[in-house]
Amino acid sequence: MAVQPPPAGRRIVIENAAVATVDAHDTEYARGHVVVLGNRIESVGDGPAPAGLDGVARRIDAGGHLLTPGLVNTHHHFYQWITRGLAQDDILFDWLVALYPLWARIDDQLVHAAAQGSAAALLKSGCSTAADHHYVFPRGGGDILGAEIEAVRELGLRFTASRGSMDRGRKDGGLPPDHAVEDLDTILTACEEAVDRHHDPSPGAMLRIALAPCSPFSVSTRLMRECAGLARRKGVRLHTHGSETAEEEAFCEAQFGMGPTDYFESVGWLGEDVWMAHCVHLSDSDIAKFAGTGTGVAHCPSSNARLAAGTARVPDMLAAGVPVGLGVDGAASNESGELGTELRNALLINRLHGSPRALTGRRALRLGTMGGARVLGRQDEIGSVEAGKLADLALWKVDGLMHSSIADPVAALTFGALPPLALLLVNGNAVVEQGRLATVDEERIARTCARAAKELAGREK
Ligand SMILES: [Zn+2]
Repeated sequence: MAVQPPPAGRRIVIENAAVATVDAHDTEYARGHVVVLGNRIESVGDGPAPAGLDGVARRIDAGGHLLTPGLVNTHHHFYQWITRGLAQDDILFDWLVALYPLWARIDDQLVHAAAQGSAAALLKSGCSTAADHHYVFPRGGGDILGAEIEAVRELGLRFTASRGSMDRGRKDGGLPPDHAVEDLDTILTACEEAVDRHHDPSPGAMLRIALAPCSPFSVSTRLMRECAGLARRKGVRLHTHGSETAEEEAFCEAQFGMGPTDYFESVGWLGEDVWMAHCVHLSDSDIAKFAGTGTGVAHCPSSNARLAAGTARVPDMLAAGVPVGLGVDGAASNESGELGTELRNALLINRLHGSPRALTGRRALRLGTMGGARVLGRQDEIGSVEAGKLADLALWKVDGLMHSSIADPVAALTFGALPPLALLLVNGNAVVEQGRLATVDEERIARTCARAAKELAGREK
């Protein structure tokens, strides 16, 4: 069952919270209020809410809590929730080669289970909008994209489902096994169908579609070009992996005679409607191309660390004006699956560039909210707490044992342990209450995911 939109005249009033709006001026209130009307923010400001409001269904005294925008995840592979804890000590290419055969045996039922696990972990860590990148479509696997979308709808997460693809198998010089890839015509037909069937371009949409060939080493040049043309005809965004590892760079030099960013440029893949995961190995001229074209970046600090991919030059990208958001990346390279903890990981990892000012706590929060909103092209609707925006809000408890002695509530969230999530509103609906999913039974998801992981591991090759 999908979570339904709230009644239009219903109000939720939150008062006494520390509010970090993440608006253009980084406005904060030490004791502020937010009023939600239907699925949108009606007002935000200092002190108590205006008196005499009608239709107040819920009034929350949020003393001891920090209110922020719901977090925005810009890169993930939900299906990997049931292939976690494998290939623990490999770099990307070896990790992929180890996991492709397992992934090539997934189907719609297993993806449904895994998507609920991944979406649950995101919601429980304060994430209200997520993009996923699904690129494995085995023959006979059923309606995998539809299953993923249904799974997410039940939990109430705002969603961009990226119809991914791979058509460059081993025999064509690619990395995936030949039986794990699709042919170009099948992919383009499926991409067009996905947009026609699922994409909701209307304001406030809970579901959007993007097109997302997987990476230069698993996708043909023709598919890159044709997907870009199709996405632009259909008015949807483009997503892929780019410049993740030194090995990818070497692959591009050998195959195309140029580095990944120049390759993406040559196939029409730089632009405001494009965002890429990782971008760890960017030169100054690559960063200038991203900034000049408005191409977005999904920064995935935990995954980059787990796979020893390197440290993305986020401070340089931000200084140049590149849109940057945060991503969990697939759960097989980030078993935690939590977006909230990526605020702290981004903060710490980027300081390894050599300056404590490389990323501030508030800049990390901005990456995880407005930065992500911009990367997904939704900066006018989500990513900050401002009147008229969608009511996607996270309320963090910062007066408990782990946080009560931290001087600054935003530092409690970004430097401290991830605080307990008292409430998460998505589209004005409470989807997490006191750290628990409000719309579904968490234990059922845990059991289903355990069964699915076991079943997949036991499937014949
Ligand atoms: Zn990825």
